[in-house]
Amino acid sequence: MNIVTATAELTPIAKAGGLGDMASFLSREWIKMGHKPIIVLPKYSFIDTNKWGFRNTLKTIIVQMGYWLEYGLLWEGKLPGSDVPVYLVEHEGYFNRGGIYGDPNEYADNDRRFIFFSKAVFEVCRAIGFSPDVIHAHDFHTAFTMSFLKEFYRIDPLFSKTAGVYTIHNLAYQGKFNPETALKYAGIPWSKFYPFSDYEYYGLVNAMKVGIMNADKITTVSPNYAQEIRWSYYGEGMEGVINLRAADFLGILNGIDYDEWNPETDKSIGVNYNKFNLEGKRQNKHQLLRDYGLSDLDDLDMPVISMVTRLAEQKGIDLVVNKMEELLETTNFRLFVLGSGEYNYEQFLRYLQSRFPKKAIIHIGHDIALSHRIFAASDYFLMPSRFEPCGLTQMFSLRYGAIPIARETGGIADTVKEYNYENMTGNGFTFWQYNADDMAFAIRRALGVYNIIPHWDKIRQNAMNENYSAKQTATHYLDVFRWAKENVQ
Ligand code: ADP
Repeated sequence: MNIVTATAELTPIAKAGGLGDMASFLSREWIKMGHKPIIVLPKYSFIDTNKWGFRNTLKTIIVQMGYWLEYGLLWEGKLPGSDVPVYLVEHEGYFNRGGIYGDPNEYADNDRRFIFFSKAVFEVCRAIGFSPDVIHAHDFHTAFTMSFLKEFYRIDPLFSKTAGVYTIHNLAYQGKFNPETALKYAGIPWSKFYPFSDYEYYGLVNAMKVGIMNADKITTVSPNYAQEIRWSYYGEGMEGVINLRAADFLGILNGIDYDEWNPETDKSIGVNYNKFNLEGKRQNKHQLLRDYGLSDLDDLDMPVISMVTRLAEQKGIDLVVNKMEELLETTNFRLFVLGSGEYNYEQFLRYLQSRFPKKAIIHIGHDIALSHRIFAASDYFLMPSRFEPCGLTQMFSLRYGAIPIARETGGIADTVKEYNYENMTGNGFTFWQYNADDMAFAIRRALGVYNIIPHWDKIRQNAMNENYSAKQTATHYLDVFRWAKENVQ
């Protein structure tokens, strides 16, 4: 299949979050399976074209914006470490800035920037003569490709057999725009803007709604989240729109790169280990704690509960703020947090560290190599998310034998199952209510299994036996693409 990925993020060239990881991983897998993926990405000025080996094709991309034309320049290269072609669209006015979406506040012209880019995706295909079976768009930034395909491009033989698949990674950012400008940039007539139409959402243009309403098929990043967002609690106001398209909507569980995240071969960790021999894990724990100033006199075998996280409300940090001081005072465990984000949360964690210098180890910052070491060193991984479309960190922690203590929401509920002492099934400890006492109870249950043989061995084996490799994810998307193609045969 010829697959175009239209994305605003791509790891490692332009990474902001999980979207970039998936955009890159999926194409890498598809090309291995014999398909022809290409990726189209804006050429942000921070992209180091020399380092990543991109070259300027000197081809101009002409984009019809409303009643006028705009121009972009086409760059080409490969996704690092693979043969997947990547095309960058250069536009001085739109992408020659510090950030992807803002710096730090959202850019005021994100409608114009991403509408331009969404049209440019089709012009890139024309410029290189690529006839896609599928255009796969992600989140609000490229949502308009789904509408442009239907409104303007399917009449071109190059796109007459092209299906549109739209994936929601984060419902919290929908791209709500002023219709006076957004419709003009998109070239969509006012006659299509009326209550309940595809282009209208409470008097605004909502890019995510445009994507959902116009795609042939819609997916999100876990089956459980796909159910949750059909109700108002998680739906962020989009539940009605999603229910309208329910017959064409499903959740596909994201996965992780099992080669990169492998405790047997991981070069970032001191001692490699596997599920049959976890002694290396104990040594990694001791070493990490020593590196953070503890000594052998400090009981290095005390259980370690870690967190690797954005410090944002979504991640349930409020529950930690509410309960962690009391827990550390009364319970025998160490907390290790690697995170960055909201200032108040950072300050609270610094306070915890000053209050419990030997029990709370806090590293404020973003450090991928350290995150590997933490997963390898921890006994438990705490993830009390308020909502979690999929969540990757619980999958890393399972892979590294760090037992998740997590709130049953979104993709967590698809991946973490409460341990059952009787039949020795399950891989973690969970709670359901968004409530600090319930989190504390789950932590206490989890600590109750620490070093208790045979349960401690069994739960870690159960965790490490799970398979959440993104290879399966890549195959599932291909099934959805075939399903979407049924609309355009
Ligand atoms: P989200 O995308 O909502 O932040 P995910 O669990 O889907 O949550 O993905 C987060 C990714 O970012 C994971 O790969 C996680 O390991 C990584 N990450 C988050 N915070 C940090 C940090 N402070 N240092 C290193 N990696 C981090």
